[in-house]
Amino acid sequence: VRFDDFGLAPAILQALTDQGYIHPTPIQAAAIPIVLQGRDVMGAAQTGTGKTAGFSLPIIQQLLQHANTSASPARHPVRALILTPTRELADQVADNVAAYSRHTPLRSTVVFGGVDMAPQTTALRNGVEILIATPGRLLDHVQQKTVSLAQTQILVLDEADRMLDMGFLPDLQRIINLLPQKRQSLMFSATFSPEIKKLANTFLQNPTTIEV
Ligand code: AMP
Repeated sequence: VRFDDFGLAPAILQALTDQGYIHPTPIQAAAIPIVLQGRDVMGAAQTGTGKTAGFSLPIIQQLLQHANTSASPARHPVRALILTPTRELADQVADNVAAYSRHTPLRSTVVFGGVDMAPQTTALRNGVEILIATPGRLLDHVQQKTVSLAQTQILVLDEADRMLDMGFLPDLQRIINLLPQKRQSLMFSATFSPEIKKLANTFLQNPTTIEV
């Protein structure tokens, strides 16, 4: 399997060439076509498997393919939201998303707690299509009305098991209530505990399970 086989936009393939990626990893080969179909996904994957590109690449492709047709005055509404348990992971995912989308007009930014809100607020006000966030700080920005999730079509819960371990379930529920009912949801977890299965049953619709 090659990255060329997925029908990804030339701008994405160029970014992969820049990164020096030649072959998709197993999780990428499994996840990319399914995410491109618009299906919900429950993915079992550890870090280091390439799962970040596994969800980021098809999300970027879908955002490029489906122009934003909303009547909202916001020029760059958040169309994809990626939630992570820690600021370190949020930063890493944001770096990846920025690298993979660098030849596209899509904008992305990252918000996490423990740092000043003001620069994040400025970035959000300027508009981003892809937002990477930790749950608590995202809710702070929602409360301050610097970000709306009313037009978010794609949700990713990355390292969902760690988010549950860290007590983020109430925050996750609050965030999901702010999203449109009609959306695509992807969840990744290193483990498949009963709690994770319950979360998947609540947040995903008829998901395809991917295990590598
Ligand atoms: P992740 O599991 O998403 O944290 O990715 C682990 C590492 O593998 C990251 O440093 C990626 O940049 C790298 N990586 C992801 N996909 C590929 C690929 N197809 N070929 C080579 N390296 C990759």
